[in-house]
Amino acid sequence: MCWVEEETGWIGFTISLNSATGFTSNMDRDVVNFGAGPAKLPQSVLLEAQKDMVNYKGLGISILEMSHRSSDFTKILNTTEVCLRELLDIPDNYKVLFLQGGGSGQFSAVPLNLIGLKESKTADYVVTGAWSAKAAKEAEKYGKVNIVHPKLGSYTEIPDPSTWNLNPEASYVYYCANETVHGVEFQFVPGVNGAVLVCDMSSNFLSKPIDISKFGVIFAGAQKNIGCAGVTVVIVREDLLGHALKECPTFLDYNIQAGNGSLYNTPPSFSIYIMGLVLEWIKNNGGAASMEKLSSIKSDIIYSSIDQSNGLYVCLVEEKSRSKMNIPFRIGNIKGDCDLEKKFLEGAAKLGMISLKGHRSVGGIRASLYNAVTVEDVQKLADFMRDFKDSHQQITTV
Ligand SMILES: *Cc1c(COP(=O)(O)O)cnc(C)c1O
Repeated sequence: MCWVEEETGWIGFTISLNSATGFTSNMDRDVVNFGAGPAKLPQSVLLEAQKDMVNYKGLGISILEMSHRSSDFTKILNTTEVCLRELLDIPDNYKVLFLQGGGSGQFSAVPLNLIGLKESKTADYVVTGAWSAKAAKEAEKYGKVNIVHPKLGSYTEIPDPSTWNLNPEASYVYYCANETVHGVEFQFVPGVNGAVLVCDMSSNFLSKPIDISKFGVIFAGAQKNIGCAGVTVVIVREDLLGHALKECPTFLDYNIQAGNGSLYNTPPSFSIYIMGLVLEWIKNNGGAASMEKLSSIKSDIIYSSIDQSNGLYVCLVEEKSRSKMNIPFRIGNIKGDCDLEKKFLEGAAKLGMISLKGHRSVGGIRASLYNAVTVEDVQKLADFMRDFKDSHQQITTV
């Protein structure tokens, strides 16, 4: 394991005064943020939010100062939900909740709400990386957890679903659609014989269309692909409401939140507002299908750069489970050459490409290619990877 210091400094970040509005604008920022989350947001969203930060639509107050029970905020909440329902074609028998507590909060909320669905108080978990491992560990506090496949030696593959040992008495089957740290992504929705399927989609939500009707619960923290930190979307089928354990905290109870339109307690109003802007941006850019096409193009660019590097760049994830969102790789050899990786990060930062360092638990490099990251941004990284390869190839080949 080797460690590389976090790159520092915002290179090429300039601030100019927009004389027309009097707002300070960062229009000229030419940094590309490849961070895994909180992650890059569309520029148009930031500029819109900048205006509403001081004076929301001429009301004379900031979006931050608005009562969550005011008609103006109600409108924001409703529009955001309508837009999400449209983008993902969410059936009427599903509730959409906007909750606090992040993806990690849902690691608890899921078992607290669902593990009591059957008397067994048992849940099936598929563990393909750091996030599903954490979720399974949390669920053990509330019931019995069955990992449906032999424990993986490394998180570089998805065990073949035909080998999963599902327990028919389990209350639900849980998996993580995209493992943000390890770069392992399901390219299919697992068949679970009619069991209640629960999915953590925090890091690939709205990167492609999904058939909601296959799921009991889907949740996603916003700060990866659909907004900023603070709000977590929960999509829950109505017949699963009302089964929470008695120790479930009220604000995490799906039934209570659904009954109160996500307003049992103060919702993360600013984060919901930002999500609304991002959803509108996705809609104006062709929706989920268009995001999927772009994700394929972007990830193909980086995986080709890796595969055509004569072994300088190494991605350990098996080909059919490679993530289109988060691409982890090592430089020099499968364990990573610390000096080369450090040089790579420094060289990228000099060109304005930041937050490419792998998660602290695995090291190496990770490029996150969420919706707001453009093909142009990705091409810039690929160009740098090629140049870096050309100037360092001899180190590994001699
Ligand atoms: C980031 C992430 C989480 C945790 O989200 P928090 O908001 O930090 O609690 C959970 N699952 C996945 C897949 C993630 O990427």
